[in-house]
Amino acid sequence: MNLADYKGVLVYIEQRDGEIQKVSLELLGKGKELAEKLGEKLSAVVLGHNIKALANELIYHGAEKVITVDHEVLKNFTNEPYTKALTAVINNEKPAIVLVGATSIGRDIAPRVSARIHTGLTADCTSLDIDDETRNLMMTRPAFGGNIMATIICPDHRPQMSTVRPGVMLKLERNTSNTGDVIDFDAGLNAQDLNVEVLEIVKEDHKKVNIEDAKVLVSAGRGIGSKENMNPLYDLADELKGEVSGSRAVIDNAWLDKDRQVGQTGKTVRPDLYFACGISGAIQHIAGMEESELIIAINKNPDAPIFEVADLGIVGDVSKVLPLLTEELKKS
Ligand code: FAD
Repeated sequence: MNLADYKGVLVYIEQRDGEIQKVSLELLGKGKELAEKLGEKLSAVVLGHNIKALANELIYHGAEKVITVDHEVLKNFTNEPYTKALTAVINNEKPAIVLVGATSIGRDIAPRVSARIHTGLTADCTSLDIDDETRNLMMTRPAFGGNIMATIICPDHRPQMSTVRPGVMLKLERNTSNTGDVIDFDAGLNAQDLNVEVLEIVKEDHKKVNIEDAKVLVSAGRGIGSKENMNPLYDLADELKGEVSGSRAVIDNAWLDKDRQVGQTGKTVRPDLYFACGISGAIQHIAGMEESELIIAINKNPDAPIFEVADLGIVGDVSKVLPLLTEELKKS
């Protein structure tokens, strides 16, 4: 393999029902920075059916080139045709770096593609950079239960592939004066590639906002004590037009659904305001919320590690503090 044949950054754009997922725009933001450091191009690849109209949006978010693969067999996500299409695009484009969101779809497709093109994959990265000397991609992710941050490189193979957690990278400002090339790629797909028949798609009832998109999060920890004691958190969240999330202890106790978990094995969030209520501040929790703009911690133990990352701390019983806080906010 001649590594010099591989150039630029390619971002896999995840779309669902024709809607570009936020993580893909975040990866375009990061991809742009990496491409500029390499002095190379940022490209985006979008797979699906009737998706060509998405190309402009990707250019407005930083892509200099957009490759679309538009085919009936890509109408719904199924891993075989999607893997085949992405593999074909990568073999044709020869990018130095491929970035994929660490969503359920990204976690399904990225390892399959990396195996087919015989390269490595670093999953679940939280930071990416270019080594000035070697020009290798430095892919950093939590390891050993979050106790260390491991930086992984892929020096002998190309492309260097990484899945990246949603909510970690920053998307660029949408700029409608950006221009770029759009290429419709024939990935050689046919009806036989569809080895799964989709009978029905049952969509999750999303009355709630995804916690990764919430501006305010009121987050519960084991210190809340019980599912019944969660009500003051909902009251505060309602008052601030926010959402309720929690630590793994809360999810393990079934006081909240799994999609509300913040942390290393949950979601990475970056709200404007994060309330940590009865959360001790374990490293695995902090890894998912430390980038929040303003962190307010309520804990009865003044030595709780959460106070080390909090901008404001209230030492007290959460069951007493929260109702008072909500009452005061209602007055203002
Ligand atoms: P605890 O650590 O039990 O803390 C409860 C806190 O509440 C204490 O600080 C206590 O002082 C306070 N308290 C008690 N009563 C009150 C009260 N009445 N008023 C005010 N404060 C009170 N954790 C996550 O959150 N997210 C993850 O994604 C995650 N992934 C993990 C992955 C691995 C591989 C491992 C090993 C662990 C992971 N964990 C994760 C678990 C993590 O290590 C902690 O066990 C967990 O975060 C603890 O949750 P907690 O802070 O709610 O509970």
